[in-house]
Amino acid sequence: MNDASPNAQINLAALKHNLSVVKQYAPQSRVMSVIKSNAYGHGVLEVAAALQESDAFAVARLAEGLQLREAGETKPILLLEGVTNASELEQAAAADLSLVFHTHEQLMMLVGTSLAKSLTFCWVKVDTGMHRLGFSPDHALSAWKILNKSNLISGDVGMMSHFSNADVLGDPKNVSQQALFSGLITQDTDLAAAPKSMANSAAILSQPDSHLDWVRPGLMLYGISPIRGKTAEELGLKPVMTVSGELISIQNLLAGDTVGYGSSWECPTDMRVGLINIGYGDGYPRQLSMRGTVLVKGIKSRVLGHVSMDMICVDLCNQPDAKVGDSVTLWGDDLPVEMIAEQANTIGYELVCQLTQRVPRFYKDA
Ligand SMILES: *Cc1c(COP(=O)(O)O)cnc(C)c1O
Repeated sequence: MNDASPNAQINLAALKHNLSVVKQYAPQSRVMSVIKSNAYGHGVLEVAAALQESDAFAVARLAEGLQLREAGETKPILLLEGVTNASELEQAAAADLSLVFHTHEQLMMLVGTSLAKSLTFCWVKVDTGMHRLGFSPDHALSAWKILNKSNLISGDVGMMSHFSNADVLGDPKNVSQQALFSGLITQDTDLAAAPKSMANSAAILSQPDSHLDWVRPGLMLYGISPIRGKTAEELGLKPVMTVSGELISIQNLLAGDTVGYGSSWECPTDMRVGLINIGYGDGYPRQLSMRGTVLVKGIKSRVLGHVSMDMICVDLCNQPDAKVGDSVTLWGDDLPVEMIAEQANTIGYELVCQLTQRVPRFYKDA
């Protein structure tokens, strides 16, 4: 690909491979592929089309679900945050979107309404320790009973929860959350027969006991390691997004010259500095100022000075052959986004999600 502007190559074959890895780790479970936030920045419609071997999809919000339905997606689609008012409820039901119920208000909304079309598959969320969304374990069973009896829901009502520390192997919180969940679902024989789900990517890879009826992989589908201290490669995952830019100028600077805004880098010797056409306006984080690593024609180079909106400066001292027009990898193949995220003091999730629309995505499937 010879596009000079920064772009993101999305490798759909790698995406499909990663889904097959999910199925190897959780062979007994159905798979709800999580494609919220524009499929973690990868492009939701293209990703959904490539992940047709999933049993269902999950997104966060109504608008995301409606977008998929309008594009013709027919699989079950779960709204992980449910809906917050009667109009949203009506729209979700009309579009055959599945809902998570996690508050008393959502239950009351359903009890107090009528729907032109009933809801199909729904879920109750129980808070086993994340303390974000969900009913307390004391209230989850009664919430489930109300929904299970509701004549506005024609399909199954499942029970789900979410781990807070699954990215840390051996964290005792994982065991206590799982124990709470197991205790809850065995309290009632009807509930014991309902669909159950706990595992995100990290739990899929490290906690087989949590797989249950449905797993909910997000990050691992995109070939990014969800477990601290393990690389994607070690887990058998292949990176899906590779962000590239181009060397657009080379400066031969003198000792004492400074580079970029704030003059934050001062050349200790005479040196070659390369300009690359990507910046924070593309989602290349400013936190990588003075510390990011890039690959110029496959060779590692470091970011000098501050990241600008449209460009960065890099050290070309060890790359006498580098020339204007050379392609530069910002993350992806041969440069794991996990590593770049660590340099930026964040997580891979954030880097891929915040890649802006200015960066066109190109899709390849081989
Ligand atoms: C985002 C999300 C997931 C996917 O998590 P990953 O860590 O990306 O695998 C699963 N379940 C819920 C409830 C989520 O919000």
